[in-house]
Amino acid sequence: MPQYNPPLRDMQFVLHELLHAVDELKLLPAHAEIDEDTINAVLEEGGKFASEVLTPINLSGDQEGCTLDKTTHEVKAPKGFKEAYAQYVEGGWPALSCDPEYGGQGLPVLLNQFMYEMMNSANQAWTMYPGLSHGAYEALHAHGTPEQKTTYLPKLTSGVWTGTMCLTEPHCGTDLGLLRSKAEPQADGTYKITGQKIFISAGEHDLAENIIHLVLARLPDAPQGSKGISLFVVPKFNVKADGSLGERNPVYCGGLEHKMGIHGNATAQIVLDGAVGTLVGQPNKGLQAMFVMMNAARLGVGNQSLGLTEVAYQNAVVYAKDRIQMRALSGPKSPDKPADPIIVHPDVRKMLLTARAYAEGGRALSAYTALQLDKALSSDDADEAKACEDEVALLTPIIKAFISDNAWIATSHCMQVFGGHGYIHEWGMEQFVRDSRINMTYEGTNTVQSLDLLGRKILGNNGATLKKFGKKIAEFVEEEGTSEAMQEFINPLADIGDKVTKLTTEIGMKAFQNPDEVGAAAVDYLRVVGHLTFAYMWARMAKLALEKKDSGDPFYTAKLATARFYFAKLLPETASLIRTARAGLNPLMEMDEALF
Ligand SMILES: Cc1cc2nc3c(=O)[nH]c(=O)nc-3n(C[C@H](O)[C@H](O)[C@H](O)COP(=O)(O)OP(=O)(O)OC[C@H]3O[C@@H](n4cnc5c(N)ncnc54)[C@H](O)[C@@H]3O)c2cc1C
Repeated sequence: MPQYNPPLRDMQFVLHELLHAVDELKLLPAHAEIDEDTINAVLEEGGKFASEVLTPINLSGDQEGCTLDKTTHEVKAPKGFKEAYAQYVEGGWPALSCDPEYGGQGLPVLLNQFMYEMMNSANQAWTMYPGLSHGAYEALHAHGTPEQKTTYLPKLTSGVWTGTMCLTEPHCGTDLGLLRSKAEPQADGTYKITGQKIFISAGEHDLAENIIHLVLARLPDAPQGSKGISLFVVPKFNVKADGSLGERNPVYCGGLEHKMGIHGNATAQIVLDGAVGTLVGQPNKGLQAMFVMMNAARLGVGNQSLGLTEVAYQNAVVYAKDRIQMRALSGPKSPDKPADPIIVHPDVRKMLLTARAYAEGGRALSAYTALQLDKALSSDDADEAKACEDEVALLTPIIKAFISDNAWIATSHCMQVFGGHGYIHEWGMEQFVRDSRINMTYEGTNTVQSLDLLGRKILGNNGATLKKFGKKIAEFVEEEGTSEAMQEFINPLADIGDKVTKLTTEIGMKAFQNPDEVGAAAVDYLRVVGHLTFAYMWARMAKLALEKKDSGDPFYTAKLATARFYFAKLLPETASLIRTARAGLNPLMEMDEALF
């Protein structure tokens, strides 16, 4: 069975040395009291919960899956999931970064992010139950009426109730403008909602006493397309005025999907048969309201991917040191043994280091972004808050798509380190690969993320936000440009920065002639910009490692070696990506549809 050790040392490095998170957070009125000890203590306790409670039920949860009782429409999560959830609630974990007004602990998003990384490493399928709830909490917190907030937020904060997001229907996922679920206004101000939703994560289960569905549907007079979608809150059990549970609302699980991975999470078909709901936000503005949840969820998917990359890496390292097979090409490295451990072979190291560089780079970028999110949410300087919000918007599709694409590569590499054993269930490695695959698809496929990045976030505002982010990189390049030791990091960072600027202009020009050029280049483009963000993080981490490499702490030696690996072996793929992005539309569109 796979093991998991929370990477506390690296988390502390990112928080305290790379980001100086405590100093930054203290400037925000909401976090003026935060200190390093609190952060470290929360991480340590959270890590114990992840590794001691969630890891042991990951493999078994995958094997057992969820079960639906077709008569009662009730779903049972795998053995141990309910008990683990009770422990999670008991420990107060759901409330970590929630608003104190509703019973939350008011700690930074950044800290919650690390908590989720650890839980995702330990058990992605389980972690999706609280993950979806937190998204529902955020949407209601941002757009709910005072009554909705009082009714739902304290219970979502404590975790006594969980939440879902119900967008997808059988005929539409990406294009939600096509959705058909209907909401009929009632005399008492509520709505009766009818329709069918599919693929609803954590849609039905036995972990919590109530499930709060956030549902997209159309009002009777709604305009066609995405401008006619409204958001409703639809509880599994109606809630009485005193907060206790009332009648069962007709919102049922009609079936569970049999799927490639995340078996422990119930992916439910949800039938709404005149279910009672209330409107969240403005009529026909549901997509905007839901975007709060979708953006949080997109960052969450990056975090799921990061968690899986880390745990796959950890297990592959243990195996690579233990498994002996063949001799090193340069001669025996363990002459006392019948063969050398496979970690001596260069390509095994390449697979391990790829996963490590993606995990540590992803952690740095995700934490950096979470800190910007804390500033966007809590800064009392409106300009700073807006600038941070824009930066988070820019980085969100990169975190979602780049980190999940990397996780697919990394988990597959780590499975490969196990040879044939990696393909066998009991080792747990093939589960990481299967679990990670959905991260490229849900919450908007990675193609859709790339269109969001290039089309909306970059060309949509003439590259203004990208330029601001580029300015930070340019300042760092300027500061470190004279350091001899930093040349191996600064030169390629400056180079990829220039290339992104040129590529963006070139695609922007082509897109004036034909907007399809954006679609032709976007996926490659996102990967190039993803590397730019990682190169920036890795160069900053390399600087710290260089400064401390003689401290005797092997952490910095390893950090420096991983940075070197990243710049020498991973970043160069941008050369080929830039070429394919520049190859443009013609090779894709030349062939007549009939010839496919
Ligand atoms: C396990 C699982 C859990 C899920 N959880 C949830 C959940 O909790 N709530 C929820 O509402 N949904 C959920 N989903 C749904 C998920 O978000 C959608 O499946 C996803 O957004 C894609 O939609 P689709 O399946 O309808 O594919 P489609 O939209 O039909 O897309 C098919 C293909 O066409 C591509 N495509 C579509 N439009 C474009 C375009 N304009 N340009 C280029 N390519 C395009 C897509 O990238 C994709 O490759 C879940 C799905 C799964 C499998």
